[in-house]
This record gives sequence, structure tokens and C-alpha cells, in this order.
Amino acid sequence: MTGPIRIGIIGGGIAGVAAAIALVKHSHVDVQVYEGASQFTERGAGVGLSPLALKALKDIIPLATDLLRTRAGAGSGPQAGALISDLGVSAGLTMNRASLLQTLLSLLPRDILHAGKRVTSLEQTESEVRVAFEDGTVTQFDAVIGADGIFSSVRNHVIGDEAQKHAASPAGWWDIRHLVPFEKARAALGDESFKVDRQYAWLGDGAAMLHGIVENRTMVQCIIAVVDNNCSADRKRPVTRQLLMDALPASWDEGPVARGMVELILDQDDPKGYAEWEHKSTPMYANNRVCIIGDAAHATTPWQGAGAGLAIEDAFILGHLAGSISSTVEINAAFRAFDAVRRPRCQEVIDAGRETGRLFCGQDEYAGLNPEKLNKALGRTFAHVGDLALALHKEEALGACVRC
Ligand code: FAD
Repeated sequence: MTGPIRIGIIGGGIAGVAAAIALVKHSHVDVQVYEGASQFTERGAGVGLSPLALKALKDIIPLATDLLRTRAGAGSGPQAGALISDLGVSAGLTMNRASLLQTLLSLLPRDILHAGKRVTSLEQTESEVRVAFEDGTVTQFDAVIGADGIFSSVRNHVIGDEAQKHAASPAGWWDIRHLVPFEKARAALGDESFKVDRQYAWLGDGAAMLHGIVENRTMVQCIIAVVDNNCSADRKRPVTRQLLMDALPASWDEGPVARGMVELILDQDDPKGYAEWEHKSTPMYANNRVCIIGDAAHATTPWQGAGAGLAIEDAFILGHLAGSISSTVEINAAFRAFDAVRRPRCQEVIDAGRETGRLFCGQDEYAGLNPEKLNKALGRTFAHVGDLALALHKEEALGACVRC
């Protein structure tokens, strides 16, 4: 080998930055991260990291939990709330997405982070990948990792002619979120919902409402999600009181938190609802020297709060695969191994996420809004996210890399 393996990461969200941290520790790898926006930033909503996501992150960054807890305060993973069902308090972490990204960025050398570099096209030869940027520059890499989000252009390159068939599509819900000061949320929703530091999910007919404490008990993330039977193609819509009330079935009026949640959610400048989209299928995560990770590979609905966790698992596996190869000729095998272990895992979580949404909104024909049935079914869907033996997953990837 003549020099380090040159890897370009496209996209500086949680997936791209976590992967960069996992790769940069290998001295035989040169990593550069390119973010299309003028800065590395995240929308200011909350993000939940499950115990499994934290475990994967700890493998990448041994001090991760301490580092994040000082930014996030105690939190909890996804649980269903008092109305219907309770999956228990987990030892996860809920924090602001922007804080998570900034904490991760602080662990990377500044000179590998390039903002304002939007990728416009990729071209592969046998020995390298040429990446063209909007500013007219072109850079060559030995390998490229696409972490450019749900509408990824790297994904189109990887999948090729079939990309449109496997593009992200509406999952059947839209949601509106707001981060609210703790005391304001407590006044609106009542003391009962704040006795335990946890996320509450209120399940019901055609909608679900969630609230959880973040940012050292200073803020509360509030979410209202409603069924979108039309699966309209608009990603973003302005939300008025009338639109929200029309979307919420009348049965919600009698619930203990619905009115308070509606007031909290609407008390923001320019309220917007976001349609939940997902990848229903993906034929490959890798094409020779290019692979995709994070939402570019496996965008999922937010019902299980799993998207960021999956991105961190991707980084964990990529980091170990990169550590196991020493030359550019092994890149294809490493990416094929990544595809072999990550694709089934992530599709299972995407499918479980959709099922969870149906359960949360009373759309499952068998469970309906029956608490006992819901508890059982939700236990099953959440198990898909949490029950991954990380060490075994890693061994499978390393084994596949040798065989590929
Ligand atoms: P993104 O965050 O979309 O980042 C992609 C980056 O690529 C962006 O910065 C973009 O500017 C850049 N980019 C795009 N195109 C180009 C280009 N051509 N050239 C260069 N750069 C480009 N997950 C959880 O686990 N738990 C939660 O509680 C949770 N809550 C969420 C709440 C909200 C409101 C949202 C939107 C998502 C939530 N998720 C949650 C999902 C999770 O945040 C994502 O799955 C995770 O952040 C992975 O994102 P990513 O880095 O793959 O993509």
C-alpha cells in the first residue's frame, strides 16, 4: 500500500459525523467530510438514543455516555404512556439533535470538515471515485460513503436504474413537533406527567401524542402525530388550529393531555407539519467503492426513535470493517460485507417502525386500542430495534468481509 485509504463522506449529519469518528481513529485511513449546507447543523428537535445505540456509540467513543449525559441530562427511551400501555423506563438518552451533532463534531479535527460543499455527481472507475461539487471542484477518493440523508443523490448512484422504484415514499402519518420550556409544559399538561423522567406516549384513535424531557430537564419535546390516509406527497405543510383539530378524531377531546398538547404545539412561529417518509425497500447499500449509510440507506418513520441509532450502528460496523482492511483493493469486499449485515437489520427496523405507528394510532386490526394486546404487540415491535447482539453483528460483518 502506498498511502492511506482516501475516504470521502458526503453529508455531515449524525450518520456522516459518527462514521467519520469511527474511521478517523485508523491511521491507514484518510477521511474528509463534505456538507452541502453552509454549516454543520441539525434541526432543533429532540432525538432519542436507545441503550443499544449508546452501546454502539461507546464502542466508537469510549467516553460517549459521559460526554452526552452532560449535554442531555437524564432521559428515557421510547415508551408508550399511561393511556394505553407501558413498556417500562429504559436507560436511553434523549437530547436535542443539534447538541448531539455538535458534541460529535467536537471530537473531529476541524481540517477534515468541509461545509458549503454540495456534491453534484459521482463517477466510479476501477481504482477510484471522482466526486464533483457544485462549486466546480472535483476530488478523487478511493471510496465514498453517502450519508446525504433521505433524498440522497449517492443512493441514486448506488442503486442506478432502479433508484426511482426504491425512492423514499410517504408512510401514512404526518407529525408536528415543538420544544417547550419545562415549566410551561408542566403547567399545560399537569404534574402527573412529570413525576418520572421518561417519554410519555398517549395512544389513541387515528393519532398519538408524545412528550419527553430533554436538555437537563429544561425543555420538553412535544409531538403530535396523525394518520395521513391520503399519503400526500407534500413533505412539509403549514399547520393551523383548524387543520390540527380536523386531523384529530373527536375521541381525543376527552383525553387528559390532548388540549394542553395542542396549545403547546401551536404556540410557535409558523407551525409546520412534516410527513413521515421511509424507504420501503432498498436492493443494495453498496456499489463497488461507494456505499450509503444513515437515512440515505434506511430512512424510517420516527415511531421507534430508531433513525439516529441505526446511523450509529452503521458507523460502528464501518469502523470495524475499515480496521480490518489495509489496502484499497479490499474496499469492495468491506462494503459488500456492510451491505450483507446492515441491510436486513435496517429493513427489519423500518418495517417494525411502520407497524409501531399503526399500533400507536389504533390502526392495527387485531390490537385496536386494547391495552393488553397493544402492550404485547408493542413489546414485539420494539424488540426488533433493541435486540441486536452488537458483538455478534460485528463478527458477522468481519466474517462476511473475508468471504466477499
Ligand atoms: P441527515 O440528518 O438528513 O443528514 C444528511 C446531511 O447531508 C445533511 O446535513 C444535508 O445537508 C447533507 N447533504 C444532503 N445532500 C448533500 C449533498 N449533495 N452534498 C453534501 N451534503 C449533502 N432518530 C432517532 O434515533 N431518535 C429520534 O428520536 C429521532 N427523532 C427525529 C426527529 C426529527 C424531527 C427528525 C427529522 C429525525 C429524527 N430521527 C430520530 C431520525 C434521525 O435524526 C436520523 O435518522 C439521523 O439523524 C440520521 O440522519 P443522517 O445523518 O443520515 O441524515
